[in-house]
Amino acid sequence: MPRTKFVVGNWKMYTTIDQARDLAAAVVRDLGGEDRVRVAVCPPFPWLTAVAELVAHSPVELGAQNCYPANEGAFTGEVSPIMIREAGCRYVILGHSERRHGLGESDEFIRRKVRFALDTGLDVILCVGETLAEREAGQLHDVTSRQLTSALDGLERERVARRLTIAYEPIWAIGTGHNATPEQAQEAHRFLRDRLRGMFGEETAEAVPISYGGSVKPENAAAIMGQPDVDGALVGGASLKAESFLAIVWAAV
Ligand code: PEP
Repeated sequence: MPRTKFVVGNWKMYTTIDQARDLAAAVVRDLGGEDRVRVAVCPPFPWLTAVAELVAHSPVELGAQNCYPANEGAFTGEVSPIMIREAGCRYVILGHSERRHGLGESDEFIRRKVRFALDTGLDVILCVGETLAEREAGQLHDVTSRQLTSALDGLERERVARRLTIAYEPIWAIGTGHNATPEQAQEAHRFLRDRLRGMFGEETAEAVPISYGGSVKPENAAAIMGQPDVDGALVGGASLKAESFLAIVWAAV
């Protein structure tokens, strides 16, 4: 069965509450009843419940940008998967490079989060990707394979097939304006799907969406998402305006 394209907006630490409301309302309005593509937005934590109300009864789904691997406890400043669920989220982004590299999150910590989020009923968008130095040193496969294996090894096939999205995000392309070429994206996505096949078998590998992230814009979205193993986009900067975000959504249809 062909995989439905999945376009996710990562609002990062941007928007005021008014901007978040306006953006969510515009995405809901302009998307209408479109169901040929799956669409989700991931606002900052404090705006989740407000955005949840705006996207309720629309095809737009809600995600959070992170979670902590515990239900509750003395973890000042952290947010649990249960809280995220209660706020109305279906998804959580884990392993984003801004957390791996900017905030020092380890493979092991991400592995724990993935399990905790899945156990709580959240679907996981797992980001993997290499730095420019790693790519230039020929380590693309080693690095992304290590990230994938560490996060997913030992999970049941069923969970991986139904509850997981991989986002291939080359770090040198995130927020830089320099996207991977469609061919570079396809090569990395095919490699990741082969790894999934090796770990979980053919059926699961074919079921898991692998989205591309890194300077996706209306101008490059169709070519990148037109590749056979690219199943959507994780969009940062261009998701902050409904017009550019929806243009990327339409490129996926
Ligand atoms: C991201 O936030 O995951 C991302 C890919 O950002 P940008 O689209 O701005 O490169």
